[in-house]
Amino acid sequence: MSNVICFDIGGTFIKYGVINQDGSLCFKDKTPTPKKDIQQILPMIIMEKLDALQREWSISAISISSCGLVDREAGIVLYSNNIPGYTGMNFKEALSPLTNLPIFVENDVKCGCMGEMWKGALQGKKDAVFLTLGTGIGGTILVNGKILNGSSNLAGELGHTVIVNNGRSCSCGRKGCFERYASTSALVQDYIREMRRRGFPVNSISGEEIVQLVYKQEPGALKVYLKFVHYLSQGLANIIHLLNPESIIIGGGIAEQNEQLIQDVNKEIEKEAMSMYLNNNIISSAVLGNQAGLFGACYNALVRLNVQVNSTT
Ligand SMILES: [Zn+2]
Repeated sequence: MSNVICFDIGGTFIKYGVINQDGSLCFKDKTPTPKKDIQQILPMIIMEKLDALQREWSISAISISSCGLVDREAGIVLYSNNIPGYTGMNFKEALSPLTNLPIFVENDVKCGCMGEMWKGALQGKKDAVFLTLGTGIGGTILVNGKILNGSSNLAGELGHTVIVNNGRSCSCGRKGCFERYASTSALVQDYIREMRRRGFPVNSISGEEIVQLVYKQEPGALKVYLKFVHYLSQGLANIIHLLNPESIIIGGGIAEQNEQLIQDVNKEIEKEAMSMYLNNNIISSAVLGNQAGLFGACYNALVRLNVQVNSTT
């Protein structure tokens, strides 16, 4: 039995765990992401957890799911704006002198997609798209059962396709990007703006809380939600026309366990996309929640090690 120690590096927490080739999560925990000196401290954290967990399990590989743009071959984080000082983190260079285990690094959205392919909503799907709604919109494209990497491993930045001509400025330098209108952050900012306009200022609120207000028919929340659903459907219809997927899976806190949003988007998409592209409920939600990254990291390592991957559970 092959066991992989997996790390999911995010802006707030590092989630980690041991997963075996049958897809069983043997152990999981999390630790806060260091706020400074990340490039020095992170390899120490990884080695400390490895030493402790190796006493209980025989570990065959270290696999890392990381936020930001990742060079999967070199094991380097090319760019990240989530964690100060993280850009340039070279996992292979930092960890190779400390361990003989093989080390794999992949972007967290791609790991999320692989997790859903192995154990979640993308099982058995060949042509599909995995989107995560959060601060931005992350995307991974599945073509004929394989993740599309592109010529320099950067394919799938669906959040940076323009849906509003000359619209809101985006961190990528363009104006009117999909993620500036249909990410969870966009919904939150639109709600805060709307409530200020209505004379009921709100300082902070989560996307999930806004959705709860929509269920209660709160007029401000309802107004921004309907616009959000429209923008989301517009961007999804572009993806559907471009790629003709059998399914688009949406992850991120706001989309998971939110049947209403998924239903509303499926309905709105009927107005946006040509009917021959649509099957019954082409949009559905991811199911693994915040564990998708860990499962995907394990899957990535097993596939690259040519280990038989089972999905009995
Ligand atoms: Zn952009």
